[in-house]
Amino acid sequence: MRTRARRDGSDWILSGTKMWITNGGLADVATVWAQTDEGIRGFLVPTTAQGFTANTIHNKLSLRASITSELVLDNVRLPASAQLPEARGLGAPLSCLNEARFGIVFGALGAARDCLEAAIDYAGTRDVFDRPLSSYQLTQEKLANMTVELGKGMLLALHLGRLKDSVGVTPDQISLGKLNNVREALAIARECRTILGASGITLEYSPLRHANNLESVLTYEGTSEMHLLSIGRALTGHAAFR
Ligand SMILES: Cc1cc2nc3c(=O)[nH]c(=O)nc-3n(C[C@H](O)[C@H](O)[C@H](O)COP(=O)(O)OP(=O)(O)OC[C@H]3O[C@@H](n4cnc5c(N)ncnc54)[C@H](O)[C@@H]3O)c2cc1C
Repeated sequence: MRTRARRDGSDWILSGTKMWITNGGLADVATVWAQTDEGIRGFLVPTTAQGFTANTIHNKLSLRASITSELVLDNVRLPASAQLPEARGLGAPLSCLNEARFGIVFGALGAARDCLEAAIDYAGTRDVFDRPLSSYQLTQEKLANMTVELGKGMLLALHLGRLKDSVGVTPDQISLGKLNNVREALAIARECRTILGASGITLEYSPLRHANNLESVLTYEGTSEMHLLSIGRALTGHAAFR
């Protein structure tokens, strides 16, 4: 985290940039985490503040329906009341991430289920060599394997949800769910695309659109690599990252 906030009297002055911020160009207020001499702190920054700019990132191939922005904070002056009073240290942004990642554990499977339904529908109506594509063993193997992975992912999500509601869920457990369910959802989306053949590369069918969007989901809210490293640390006691 390179964005810094320094005190100036009772005010705060924020400087730095934030890349890849969803809805950054639409929001009225940005939640910004910054390094201070007192540790990491959070701030609510009105996007009309002097020195604040949101630059739209163009030519995305994924999540094209949402605006993603670079936020630039050039000596943005904020009153003391803009600081989040209870948020002290890295635990504050990480607790937000845990909530968002938990949502993704379920959300990714919604995309996978839509892909599977599209593939089953298509395979049932597309005739190859005078028989429905769905009647061929290789197609049924693909559909069966994807159904198994989707079901396992749903059970994992449900289990984590029940843990969260009862004894609580640890960040490493959420890492496991996010890693597995996004990875499997992406694999399902790609496999469904193959069942659709050339039609699968058009916008008329959902699997490739979901696959492209899931590429972002694989990266945001902790990349797959970061979740692997978290799980590795939990298993071994050694952090393989700084
Ligand atoms: C569409 C979209 C929307 C987003 N929205 C937001 C948002 O609203 N707010 C927000 O804060 N962020 C947002 N992000 C940013 C996202 O969280 C980051 O892109 C992500 O954390 C990865 O950072 P990076 O792109 O800088 O990749 P890098 O940090 O440059 O990493 C590049 C690659 O190196 C790997 N890597 C890094 N360190 C190690 C290591 N120690 N060992 C092995 N591999 C490593 C990474 O896993 C990755 O595969 C968004 C991203 C996208 C694509």
